[in-house]
Amino acid sequence: MLPAPLNNITSFLSALLKQFLDSQNCLFCKASSIRPKTVLEERGAFAELEGYLCRACAGKLPFDTDSWQPLPESHLQYSNVFHYEGKIKEALLGLKFQEERIFAELFALFAAFKIESMAYYPRAIVPLPLPPSRLRERGYNQSEEIAQALGRRLGIRVVSDLLKKREGTRPQTEMQGFPARRENIKAAFFLQLSEENRSLLGRPLLLLDDILTSGATVKEAGKTLEKGGFPVRIMTIARQGFNKKQKYGII
Ligand SMILES: [Zn+2]
Repeated sequence: MLPAPLNNITSFLSALLKQFLDSQNCLFCKASSIRPKTVLEERGAFAELEGYLCRACAGKLPFDTDSWQPLPESHLQYSNVFHYEGKIKEALLGLKFQEERIFAELFALFAAFKIESMAYYPRAIVPLPLPPSRLRERGYNQSEEIAQALGRRLGIRVVSDLLKKREGTRPQTEMQGFPARRENIKAAFFLQLSEENRSLLGRPLLLLDDILTSGATVKEAGKTLEKGGFPVRIMTIARQGFNKKQKYGII
């Protein structure tokens, strides 16, 4: 039995060591053999995985390779990083409900890679907001977590006080079908035009959300920004309900 102080130091050191070792593990399969810098080749381009994923898991990522395209019934352009399935789905739910914020870094890595390949240069990133009560309840906004990580990677501002969501809209997940979702989200957003935010008028923005389902939410948010004089394109991390034929694997 070690004397108490030494015991504390030992447990502190072992906790520290464990944390260090954990950070070298694959986030998806927990394999511990990955190196801090792993390079993934995707169709001739390179993306650094920085030790988040092992090669096997990286090779199975369900990328959405579509570029900018119009949202249904809209001229607003959007693009999407992954299809909503498997480990990507688990990671999005982990970030949303279990505070697994490391996944925000992983999503930002690929979102940055995709946006740089699509020749759009936003002046700022606007995360899709939560209504104030939901933000208080959850303590954080998962889309803002991803936006902050993406902003750090791209070296651009994240503006979280421009687009706001009103209280009173029910979660879109409770709505059945597109018409119900569209009705529920109507007039759900408004702009807060501080002096700093006004400096972005006419500048290209990127609206960021985690999951695309019917598209009604991001469409309403995008329209609110455009009506206010802010040109915007939309990026989502994963899209639900895709055609399996559109799925592409890599390496
Ligand atoms: Zn793995």
